[in-house]
Amino acid sequence: MRWGLIGASTIAAEHMIGAIRQSGGQIDTVLSSNPDRAASYALEHGIAKGVTDLDAAMDGIDAVYISTTNEKHLPQALAAIAAGKHVLCEKPLAMSVADAVAMVRAAEAAGVTFGTNHHLRNAGSHLAIRDAIHEGRIGNVLSMRVFHAVHLPPHLQGWRIDNPGAGGGVIPDITVHDADTVRFHLAEDPVDVVAMKVSGAMGQGVEDSAMSVWSMPSGVMVQSHESFTHPFAGSGIEVHGTAGSIIARGVMTQAPVGEVVVRSAAGEEVLGYAKHGLYDRAVDLFTTACAGKGRPSADGVDGVKSLAVAMAVAEAAETGRRVAVAYGGI
Ligand code: NDP
Repeated sequence: MRWGLIGASTIAAEHMIGAIRQSGGQIDTVLSSNPDRAASYALEHGIAKGVTDLDAAMDGIDAVYISTTNEKHLPQALAAIAAGKHVLCEKPLAMSVADAVAMVRAAEAAGVTFGTNHHLRNAGSHLAIRDAIHEGRIGNVLSMRVFHAVHLPPHLQGWRIDNPGAGGGVIPDITVHDADTVRFHLAEDPVDVVAMKVSGAMGQGVEDSAMSVWSMPSGVMVQSHESFTHPFAGSGIEVHGTAGSIIARGVMTQAPVGEVVVRSAAGEEVLGYAKHGLYDRAVDLFTTACAGKGRPSADGVDGVKSLAVAMAVAEAAETGRRVAVAYGGI
């Protein structure tokens, strides 16, 4: 498959260019808003063309990977869809649920494949956790706790910590991933949320930490913690059930690492899992879906729903009210 990169981004450089190439994909073009950067990024990454014009970026390709800042995703996705290209778009899909729904509906109408780049559900660790839950290893699920308080590395301390117009803040950046991961494990969508947030240690005009509690249709309670300011907290997820608990540590990350333990009356068992690249699997499944087989690991509806949960958390944290998650009719 022939790809165009929409955005000369860090995530493309660090993870997605390699993932696309390992899938057999060829990257023909990169789009940047800056001509010098378009040229230097293309040269550095062995991409034939660096362009600044969105129409030119569509020339001769089958699919785009959109990894610009969040406010640009909507117009760029709509342009790619109008040009008949498959779209793999970064999270959060857009700045509002309505915009995200518009992207997904446009892709459906055009008959192109649309994927959301939620990497965590591709991790072998999370696939093992989901299987253990659905095989009944911990009985009926009672609650889930997500630990995703990290220290934002210096090279990412740009728009994320000071630019709400570009989608900055820990809620659009990390809560959105946690929403997708919880939906993936529990196979249900949060109903409503309460939340609090703070900013100041790193965030300027945007929150740098958030804690929230979500209710699920089944009655499961979910607790979620995201931050940019915690150097030593470590990440993890716990799923507690009537017959056992799953304790996973170090698994809310971009690499195939971490430990998954099932604890029950029988003792503790460490679960083995496949150590494939998270982004590799995401691109492989997206590529196969573009060929008409299967579906992306996270599709457009998944991207709308994770955004909807994050938007509800943001509103709840802002207002102090309990907020129903509004999924935009999708
Ligand atoms: P970056 O800040 O690296 O890139 C965003 C934009 O900033 C680029 O499109 C580029 O604009 C500009 N830019 C980047 N580096 C430079 C630079 N050195 N000098 C000048 N301009 C620069 O963002 P990220 O890669 O961190 O994130 C991009 C998107 O990907 C976001 O939507 C984010 O939420 C998502 N993301 C997803 C992850 C995942 O695991 N799914 C992980 C990380 C990010 P231009 O293209 O115009 O040159």
